[in-house]
Amino acid sequence: MDKTLCGYCGVGCGLEYNGKLRGDKEYYVNSGSICSKGLSQLSTIQTDTRLLNPLIRDSIRENFKRVDWNLAIESIANRIKKTSSDKIGFYLSGQLLTEDYYIANKLVKGFLGTNNIDTNSRNCMASAVVAYKKSIGADFVPLKMEDIFDANLLILAGANTAEAHVVFHNQIKKAKKSGLKVVVIDPRETETAKIADLYIPIEAGGDIGFFNLLSKKIIENGLIDKEFIQNRVNGFENLKENLEKLKEEELIEEIGISKELFEEFFKLYRESENIITAWTMGLNQSVQGVDKNLSLINTHLITGKIYKRGCGPLSLTGQPNAMGGREVGGLSTMLAVHLGFEEESIKKVSQFWKSDKIDNRVGLTATEMLSANLDILIIAHTDPIYHLPNRNLTERFIQKIPLVVEINAYDNSETSKFAHIRLPASPWGEKEGVQTNLDRSIRIVKKIRENLGEAKADWEIFQLLAKALGFEKEFNYKSSREIFKEYQEMTKLSDHMNIYRAKYQELEKGFRWGEDIIKEKRFLTKDNRANLFFVKNEFKSEKVSKDYPFILLTGRTRDQWHSGTKTAKSEKLLKYKPLSFVEINSKDAKELNIQNGERVKISSKRGELITIAKVTNRIIEKTIFIPISDRRVNYLTSDLLDPLSKEPDYNHSAVKIIKLKEEN
Ligand code: SF4
Repeated sequence: MDKTLCGYCGVGCGLEYNGKLRGDKEYYVNSGSICSKGLSQLSTIQTDTRLLNPLIRDSIRENFKRVDWNLAIESIANRIKKTSSDKIGFYLSGQLLTEDYYIANKLVKGFLGTNNIDTNSRNCMASAVVAYKKSIGADFVPLKMEDIFDANLLILAGANTAEAHVVFHNQIKKAKKSGLKVVVIDPRETETAKIADLYIPIEAGGDIGFFNLLSKKIIENGLIDKEFIQNRVNGFENLKENLEKLKEEELIEEIGISKELFEEFFKLYRESENIITAWTMGLNQSVQGVDKNLSLINTHLITGKIYKRGCGPLSLTGQPNAMGGREVGGLSTMLAVHLGFEEESIKKVSQFWKSDKIDNRVGLTATEMLSANLDILIIAHTDPIYHLPNRNLTERFIQKIPLVVEINAYDNSETSKFAHIRLPASPWGEKEGVQTNLDRSIRIVKKIRENLGEAKADWEIFQLLAKALGFEKEFNYKSSREIFKEYQEMTKLSDHMNIYRAKYQELEKGFRWGEDIIKEKRFLTKDNRANLFFVKNEFKSEKVSKDYPFILLTGRTRDQWHSGTKTAKSEKLLKYKPLSFVEINSKDAKELNIQNGERVKISSKRGELITIAKVTNRIIEKTIFIPISDRRVNYLTSDLLDPLSKEPDYNHSAVKIIKLKEEN
């Protein structure tokens, strides 16, 4: 019986494989539970859309020609040799395994001399990364999912766990049986809201107002932990003074709810000893994503509800190995193993990699690469044309890049239409390596079947490229295990990553790094104190207008994964919800004479799409929702970015919606 790990979301459920898949009862993360996506993985490995051979073409107007690996890799290497390192970009994915990330990061930052390597985690978790670093000193989740069993109150802000983190959601339901109260804050009354003791239909963009009002009330009502603040936290007086200046009525208006509803929430809050606030894309994917995170984390720091069982700010990572990628250094804004680009860090990493090529400048982010006039863009295991905002513009940008390489397991991505060279990668199930889940548990993903066609593990592909560039000696790994060993050694360079302590065999059972930090209640800042930041809603998102009077929200549905290269191939998964629809409030629908099931056109300043209306009372007025399983959704979305995290404002685009006449 093989033990492995699910390749979809950040919960990171353990699986057992014995010809069939089932949840691993012995794995502490999921204790045997599994969701429909996790269960479907076997049936969606071998689709008729697998990319099985290297392909090449001179221009995107031509058809691809099949070539051998040597020719494909040589072609890329030759172009890289002739190109200045600033003009090369690597765009990775939270679905790569840690070893894939390690080899790519070492090659690009260590030997190509550019930090233009970033991951699609930029589009989902970067705001949480920046906020954690600013407030507690590192990209470190300071609690575990199982803490909900010791909590009295769980606040879910902009997080639809019932659809995006299904097994965790089932654990929440279990914890509710022993008394956990749940508050859901979301403009949509989501599936998650169905289990809420209190549902708060916040205005899109009202999050900072909400958490500022909460902090203000905490201070006014004497609920702060004075001793904790005095001994462990910076910036309290500044926060207090600024919050005092905010008017409660104005904050209530910003949040878009009644004063009574907030009071009901606050009663629940003050009666609860142990509190966890969990969040995901509703807060992160915003032009003020970092500020939203900081306003939330403030509430935990002023009450001392952190580093106590059943307490803390819990960022829910979307992708299976977004955390592992960040730990390795897969973001262009960090070097490796949570080290930045300061002289001391560069010195340590240079010595470790035996390289003198490391640049001290922050690289391009995933959200900047396509518009940066690059000469070469190498995209691995992800689909930026589908997922980046303002797709019409993105399509124009990618067509200006002379060499676009796509490494992917499937041949039906949107990006493939713009690639010149395509390399077949092994998907989940055909390669081995490790992943870190959202609360720092690392476990091995096993190879459970042979590769199809000529597909290779991503680390092998990066290694072939490294060798073709002349780095044979530095990139001569025989297995993912050997790579992981080197990466573990490297984690000794960090002052807080104890990943080096795990024995490889232990990773079959799972190893959670950083538990020593929690035990010692250590903040990872220079002065070992956490930082409070006063932030204000600056209303920087796209404004609604007479022409575009609705706000568009985007998000996951339970049974589909991103663009659906795999999940949309499963008849079973397609039964639950259609891939494309738009939720609209029944009052708005009535005004626009739109009936449930009718065809409607949604447009923004940037593009349009036609879909089917789902009329509902479960979304606030003047706000609509389109799932990201609709591959066209980013023709509509705004490309404003958070200035610090560079994460897009996916949940605040101004749009209009009209009913289509029969003949349209
Ligand atoms: Fe996989 Fe996430 Fe479902 Fe668990 S909850 S089985 S990790 S998709």
